[in-house]
Amino acid sequence: MAMTMTEKILARASGKTEVHPGDNVWVRADVLMTHDVCGPGTIGIFKREFGEQAQVWDREKVVLIPDHYIFTADDKCHRNVDILREFARAQGLPHHYDVGSKNYKGVCHIALAEEGHTRPGEVLFGTDSHTCTAGAFNEFATGIGNTDAAFVLGTGRLLVKVPPTMRFVFEGEFPPYVLAKDVILHVIGDIGVDGATYKAMEFAGEAVDRLSMEERMTLCNMVIEAGAKNGIIAADETTLAYVRVRTAKAFEPVGPDPGARHVSCTTYDARAIEPTVARPHSPDRRVSARELRDVRLTRAYIGSCTGGKITDFVNAASIMRGRRVAVDTFLVPATTEISRAIRTETLGGRTLLSIFEEAGCRVSLDASCAACLGGPEDTFGRINGPEVCISTTNRNFPGRMGAKEGQVYLASPYTVAASAVTGRITDPREFLGGGLGTGSERRCGAAGAASGASGGVAGAAGGVSGADGAASGGGGVISRAAREVGP
Ligand code: SF4
Repeated sequence: MAMTMTEKILARASGKTEVHPGDNVWVRADVLMTHDVCGPGTIGIFKREFGEQAQVWDREKVVLIPDHYIFTADDKCHRNVDILREFARAQGLPHHYDVGSKNYKGVCHIALAEEGHTRPGEVLFGTDSHTCTAGAFNEFATGIGNTDAAFVLGTGRLLVKVPPTMRFVFEGEFPPYVLAKDVILHVIGDIGVDGATYKAMEFAGEAVDRLSMEERMTLCNMVIEAGAKNGIIAADETTLAYVRVRTAKAFEPVGPDPGARHVSCTTYDARAIEPTVARPHSPDRRVSARELRDVRLTRAYIGSCTGGKITDFVNAASIMRGRRVAVDTFLVPATTEISRAIRTETLGGRTLLSIFEEAGCRVSLDASCAACLGGPEDTFGRINGPEVCISTTNRNFPGRMGAKEGQVYLASPYTVAASAVTGRITDPREFLGGGLGTGSERRCGAAGAASGASGGVAGAAGGVSGADGAASGGGGVISRAAREVGP
């Protein structure tokens, strides 16, 4: 039977020749990752259920990455880090990226990739909802709860229901002012925060093939914001070039079979995607950046697993170079490797760090999740009052970045940088050129099963309903098939 990439990985990992959506299969884990927020709970359950002296199923496959509440005076946060440290020592775990050691890395999802733990064709479980980021590497990667993680620690296996796959194809080429963050906000705006509940979101097409690994990670990072079980992209030379220099382990990518069945297939004209923003307080409250030009800001934030990678900082610097920011602007690298690169990589003869400092930004060189998840009050960049913030992070629920009175707009590094400079939400085309078109040249509803896309898409595929009725900034859909189709 023809299978999707997700089905092929789950079939292989469960020792079956084929699986179907809805099947429940016991899947072997290639990697289990946990961090300082969920690790202590996971470890507690593991000890309770398997015994105080129990050993993890495979030391080589357990990865501990403290990253969330690291640079704080809060004792409870320190205790969590200590619990991970003690567990790693007692179990003899080789992959522990401990705080204060030369191994310290920062945000787990980027650290996993940099350290070679994300490999095509494998299964990665993590106690963090954005574990789906690693789908960019052609693996089945998904977030799990502490109880499931404790079970994996003890047995190396987990019962997984095979998700049906939604396929998203981007034809042509993204405009130079559009980043992967715009693309995923655009898709989430189309299908809503429950539009892919327990589905695999598969990304393909010429425009996706052209993306760097960092941009592909951004795309897969936010599939959970549509409720997806996982995101996935086929491996190509870009994937292999990234992975091969980071791991000596053998791996086997999977591609989609011809004739594989998808619950839906939506094809976009990549050229019609615009700089996109999600308004407070939900990632599907999509609107074009150009439509929010009257929104005045008090803060900008560039960081997290979504928007704190080196390419994100290079893109932000390309706009901030030679300019001053008009609002408090906080920058936090996701990992120590990125922190070093900010100090060494140059643009126009200036390091990124000097560009940001001359622009008036507040740069933390301590890599971590920082204010993406709010954290203790002394967390760098945390929203502690009624701020209006534009951010490269992935969630904008009330209180997500700190105070519940805060308002968070989600956007790409280009849009955040442009907005930081003007003090209001700004389409980056004001700095990068490209003309503030309205997407009127988009081709919508061209195919038989397609529905109209402009001005808020409704009636999306597979029983998915449209996002917020007020959502705008839609467009670019060429075709949308609600039935099962081949790739
Ligand atoms: S950066 Fe934010 S979204 Fe990413 S793992 Fe940390 S808290 Fe979660």
